[in-house]
Amino acid sequence: MGGFLKLEGKARDDFYQAKYDYYKRFNLGVLFASAFMFLILFVADWQVDGAALGRSFLIRSSVVVPMLVVFWAYQKINNYKIMGILTYLMVHAMIWGNIWAGSYLADQSYVNEGFLIMSLVLLLVSFAAPPFVAIIGQLGLIGDILLADHLYHFENINAILTFNIQVIVLLCLVDFIIAGFYYDHYITQRKLEFALFHDPLTQVFNRRQLHKIMGEGHDLTFLSDAIAILIMDIDHFKLVNDRYGHDEGDRILQFVADCIRNSLRGPDMVMRWGGEEFVVILFDCPADQAMAVAERIRKSVEKSVNGVCAITISLGVAIYAGGDCFETIKQADSALYVAKRQGRNQVVSYEALDEKLRQEVARARQNEV
Ligand code: GH3
Ligand code: MG
Ligand code: MG
Repeated sequence: MGGFLKLEGKARDDFYQAKYDYYKRFNLGVLFASAFMFLILFVADWQVDGAALGRSFLIRSSVVVPMLVVFWAYQKINNYKIMGILTYLMVHAMIWGNIWAGSYLADQSYVNEGFLIMSLVLLLVSFAAPPFVAIIGQLGLIGDILLADHLYHFENINAILTFNIQVIVLLCLVDFIIAGFYYDHYITQRKLEFALFHDPLTQVFNRRQLHKIMGEGHDLTFLSDAIAILIMDIDHFKLVNDRYGHDEGDRILQFVADCIRNSLRGPDMVMRWGGEEFVVILFDCPADQAMAVAERIRKSVEKSVNGVCAITISLGVAIYAGGDCFETIKQADSALYVAKRQGRNQVVSYEALDEKLRQEVARARQNEV
């Protein structure tokens, strides 16, 4: 539960951003509700002191301005740090507003209850904030009480402080418990997401990842200027399974996935397309480089030792020219078909196939179906 305390750098940032994203609507709702409460408290002010009605209404209606700022920021800025600071500023602005409005009342005996309500609001907004920010926000209430004392000269300031500090300490503990509970949820969510988009055997992506990143009409152009797609298939893999068994076959699959991964740059994406076929998407990769990458993968599989048996792979390469990326995958698959037919353990580019051969392959594939 307290695992989030061990997070560092980007991992910690991601966790707090996810926590904000999860609770941000709740956070906005709490701010709206408390701003509304702040506004209509002019009725209570009027009940306590009828003479203060006009001034109280004026002060309390000014809450609309910061609330509009928060609402605007909520739509424009999706950053937990900025929104955390803005949220606590908003809550403290309401506390200062209450102190200001209360300072005009003849009877100020219900001010302490006001502090208690505001610590509850501070607790509710801490759901969306990192616990350390929440604690600073909650400790700020002591400063607010001292400010109020400066204006009102409470007779029982020590008792008010002791009472509120006890509440604040308790709420600080609750801040950590809230973050801890969210951490459990966050980790489960991350594990599920990993399982949803990865192949359990090879740990590379599965097909769902492509659906996740592509745009309308299976478009990929917005991701990069030059995209190449490779599809590869292990040669005579049935024989490996027959001769060495399925478990050793699985080891070969893991080995091929490692060879592919180690031959790529960071942003490139490898997916297990099915059975013993892999698809690679190369970003910012012109046609000649795509062939070089494919050749690098082929050689890596051929030369590396895998502890089971020597194997080779065949690859098809196609250049993505916009539109439906599944059409490009089909083209790469046609090139793979030619690579298999020409003797395996080689790379064939779809762009290098003449129109006659393309049609011949299309016909042959249709007959297979
Ligand atoms: P080719 O060179 O023409 O590709 O011949 P091939 O024997 O590799 O033929 P094909 O590509 O059709 O073979 C697919 C084989 O892959 C059949 C199946 O037993 C095996 N296979 C598919 N998925 C797995 C898996 O998860 N583990 C193992 N061990 N084998 C798998
Ligand atoms: Mg196959
Ligand atoms: Mg095969």
